[in-house]
Amino acid sequence: MDISNRVKTLTPSTTLAITAKAKELKNEGYDVIGLGAGEPDFNTPNYILEAAKNAMMNGMTKYTPAGGVAELKQAILNKFSRDNNLIYTPNEVIVTTGAKHALYSLFQVILNDGDEVIIPSPYWVSYPEQVKLAGGNPVIVDALEENKFKITPEQLETSITKNTKALIINSPSNPTGMMYDEDELKRLGEICLEYGLLIISDEIYEKLIYTDDQHVSIAQLSPELKEQTVVINGLSKSHAMTGWRIGYAAGPEKIIKAMTNLASHSTSNPTSIAQYAAIAAYEEDVDSTIEMRKVFTERLHTLYDLLEDIPGITCLKPKGAFYLFPNATEAVKNNGFSSVDEWVAALLAEEKVAIVPGSGFGAQNNIRLSYATSMEQLVEAAKRIKRFVLHHQ
Ligand code: PLP
Repeated sequence: MDISNRVKTLTPSTTLAITAKAKELKNEGYDVIGLGAGEPDFNTPNYILEAAKNAMMNGMTKYTPAGGVAELKQAILNKFSRDNNLIYTPNEVIVTTGAKHALYSLFQVILNDGDEVIIPSPYWVSYPEQVKLAGGNPVIVDALEENKFKITPEQLETSITKNTKALIINSPSNPTGMMYDEDELKRLGEICLEYGLLIISDEIYEKLIYTDDQHVSIAQLSPELKEQTVVINGLSKSHAMTGWRIGYAAGPEKIIKAMTNLASHSTSNPTSIAQYAAIAAYEEDVDSTIEMRKVFTERLHTLYDLLEDIPGITCLKPKGAFYLFPNATEAVKNNGFSSVDEWVAALLAEEKVAIVPGSGFGAQNNIRLSYATSMEQLVEAAKRIKRFVLHHQ
């Protein structure tokens, strides 16, 4: 039986490929350090586990409404009002099986064949694939390192065609950790309004910011922008809940209704128990990320300083998320490799350090290192990378 054309052309995830190779080496007995992880290395806080236990014991183990239970929707509305100054109604919010599936469903309900979605690069690996799965065409716009990996209004405007349907903004960004400020968002927003583009604002790293910069949602900048934006968020990163699969989308009622209809025929609903855990996450401790942020901040500074000390590696200091995205062009050249991909493969083979090549994120010159692992491992990883670079000079 042939696999459908739609799925046959999916690009396999580079992150997963590296993780699989690292696992293979680990199984062979090697001491491998994995810096590929896209999830916090913390356990879900106890008060959330308790809420899940209580939900199970109290019979919350049945189907729920496709768009999520009313209490969780209310907790999400409260969160939007508290953190983002955004007022939504229950009909403007859908709870989904992770933010990933919120995005997947969104593309399914807004795109027709040939519609274009503008994706600034470096991008999160799933955006282009999800757009293609919905019949759309990803239009990649290079957010230059000189511009802190952010696209300019001019770049946005020149990328728009009669087929453009939407723009994706991911701030703080995976993989770069960069953030758009209010003024930059306003300028991009004005263009989206002028051309009638939907703005998809992926704010999953909102709570993981390590500077004084304030997270701004483009939807909060004006009522017009709110009407033209779908905000995507979830609890995977903010509450160390990657395995629970709870995300959500908020935006125009018509879009949310279509997504809910789609959910009713695909997932039925996100897991009931996880939904009740998510209510506790948002309602019982409004900022349980303080500790996690403290630990991530220390790791970021330490790893950043250690990388600065490696010849041929330069790095913009990220503001949020939990990745560093250095440029390795010089090191790759000086070490005699022809591409970052090759350099990364040799690093894994020789020094047993797994990092992700930027090619998977649309950035050929960069590498992604996740600091969602212990300080000890980070220090050891940096030591090995330096040894590798010096050895190949
Ligand atoms: N968006 C970005 C930018 C991400 O990095 C991720 C996870 O890695 C997601 C969305 C999806 O998160 P989840 O589906 O776990 O809620």
